[in-house]
Amino acid sequence: MELARMQQLESLAREYGTPLYVYDSAVIENQYNRLLEAFKDVKNIKLNYACKANTNLNILKFLKSIGSGLDTVSIQEVQLGLLAGFEPEKIIYTPSGVSFDEIKQAVDLGVRINIDNLSILELFGQEIKNYPVSIRMNPHILAGGNSKISVGHIDSKFGISIYQLPHILRVVSNTGIRIEGIHMHTGSDILDIEVFLQGAEILFNVAKEFHDLDYIDFGSGFKVPYKEGDNETDIQYLGKKLGERFNLFEKEYNKDLTLLFEPGKFLVSQSGFFLVSVNVIKQTTSTVFAEVDSGFNHLIRPMFYNAYHNITNISNPDGRLRFYTVVGYICETDTFGTNRKISEIREGDFLCFENAGAYCFSMSSNYNSRLKPAEILLLNGKPHIIRRRERLEDLLSTTEEISI
Ligand SMILES: *Cc1c(COP(=O)(O)O)cnc(C)c1O
Repeated sequence: MELARMQQLESLAREYGTPLYVYDSAVIENQYNRLLEAFKDVKNIKLNYACKANTNLNILKFLKSIGSGLDTVSIQEVQLGLLAGFEPEKIIYTPSGVSFDEIKQAVDLGVRINIDNLSILELFGQEIKNYPVSIRMNPHILAGGNSKISVGHIDSKFGISIYQLPHILRVVSNTGIRIEGIHMHTGSDILDIEVFLQGAEILFNVAKEFHDLDYIDFGSGFKVPYKEGDNETDIQYLGKKLGERFNLFEKEYNKDLTLLFEPGKFLVSQSGFFLVSVNVIKQTTSTVFAEVDSGFNHLIRPMFYNAYHNITNISNPDGRLRFYTVVGYICETDTFGTNRKISEIREGDFLCFENAGAYCFSMSSNYNSRLKPAEILLLNGKPHIIRRRERLEDLLSTTEEISI
């Protein structure tokens, strides 16, 4: 991390207190433009931000301001997107295992719907007239990083299997439903672009069976680096390969098509920094623990996915490097990082977790009755509070107290 960034974050931690999430909109914008640039040879390319990565309303508004659409997975995310000002037709709703009632609510709100289940497709076609949908296919490729985040494999609950294509076509012709898009999302952390391209090939094969498509949606799963020397999805190469193939398909298809992606992590992960204070340094027989004022209630990815988040002591950039195991204050094992080389940590120092923009605050909880952190957005370099720190009243706001 650059010294100027450390100084900036240190002064924010001092001013706003910790634990604190900080997001830099310039990083989001840069990622957004990088991805578009990689596909510059495709005439119609659109990005829909997968908002489950970070649903702060202001993050949604920022993405809207730079031209993004929105990918949503619950009716509440749809509602947040509308509140953020997205037009309904810029929102795609990709539910998995939700009730038909919830899908009907999305229809009433006028957003695009991506169906991932044959029985729902059939019901939709029978009950709802003149409302085109897209279909989420499962190409059965294993592109994702680990079994928890890879969703395209044979045992995955997501999508309709490509082997069921004949059945899909029958439902479409029986009900007269118009299919406007074909979709796949094979999971997070794609490194092998050839595998991704194989999936895309399968999707093109499906797409040519439908004669009135508007778009093909390749989902997301782009990997970002989490530590120095880490691999990331080579979007330049992907843009060249998939872009060429898409243009060729569009020509054969003989109709203008839009190429869609729905990145979450790629757009926001590296924009985020999670700042904590060190409460105590605890030397045991084998380990030096740095114990911080947070835990898996605020940042669960290390414990849930074994994710690596770089940890920097922003209060002591020039300190001697020593080894620490960084843990939280939750009454369960909540280890953020084991045996990390960090510049000497003193009690009261501020530590910074990187890659804290995606799936961090949005997966946070109130476990141990702890309050959720505040969130800051840097807009043109200037800090804005976009969520105040919780208070005890917030913990009680949904409780109904009865007399006992
Ligand atoms: C989560 C999700 C995404 C975003 O995945 P990332 O790995 O964060 O880019 C895209 N599409 C769908 C349908 C998703 O569920």
